[in-house]
Amino acid sequence: MSAGKSQKTAGFVLKSLAYGESDLIITFYSRDFGKISGIAKGAKRSRKRFANVFEPFSQIALIFSRKSRDTLALIESCEIIDHYAAIRADLEKTLTASYFIELADAFSPEGKANDRLFVLLADFLDWLARENASDAAIRFFEMRLLQISGFEPALGACVRCRKPVANGEVYYFYPQEGGITCAACARPERYDQSVSAGAVRTLLLGKDMDMEKMKRICMTDSLAAESRSILCGFIAYVLGKEVKSLKVLEQVRRYCP
Ligand SMILES: [Zn+2]
Repeated sequence: MSAGKSQKTAGFVLKSLAYGESDLIITFYSRDFGKISGIAKGAKRSRKRFANVFEPFSQIALIFSRKSRDTLALIESCEIIDHYAAIRADLEKTLTASYFIELADAFSPEGKANDRLFVLLADFLDWLARENASDAAIRFFEMRLLQISGFEPALGACVRCRKPVANGEVYYFYPQEGGITCAACARPERYDQSVSAGAVRTLLLGKDMDMEKMKRICMTDSLAAESRSILCGFIAYVLGKEVKSLKVLEQVRRYCP
């Protein structure tokens, strides 16, 4: 493989795939180049050289080269910055981190750098290493990811009559309209669930809440269910598919509370 000049960056491992007998193809989200896929020659065989390096959500420092932006990179060297041992020691935290990573992967086009997405992953993984996984943390991550990727749902006012959200009112969220409507504008179908102003307000608050304050937010069951229905319904609509790791995470949370 002839390659261009070597480049250095930090990144989060999004996924890895065995290639042939000894190589791995790694996709990572890098700070300087966005999402990149690269081949790590001999990585499958040389466990010592690459110990833990290519596990999902590890933060790594890597040197790579590539002929052009749309060719597979050649990973020349790779070192662990943070393996997040405190996350990996806990099943719920591991599944939460895996969900963050799957979402970041799904929302990032190849080769488009977005420093804010890198910082979002770094902030939430650091947070998860210190604090317990919570509904609020998961929803606020989704909210911020949507905002950063240009898909922020319109939650401040009714998308039809523009009336701002008011306490005590109920709303309907329509993914195809990208936001909420008030009860007067809504034409709910039989199975459409309303959401409270409280759920909408909490999500708006979480969009830019200080990470330290996040641990004080404890969602009631109904608030958690409403915020989940807004964001997960919207994410599935935008991506055109359900996010697999969320289902696993929720099953585990249900059976091992
Ligand atoms: Zn309205």
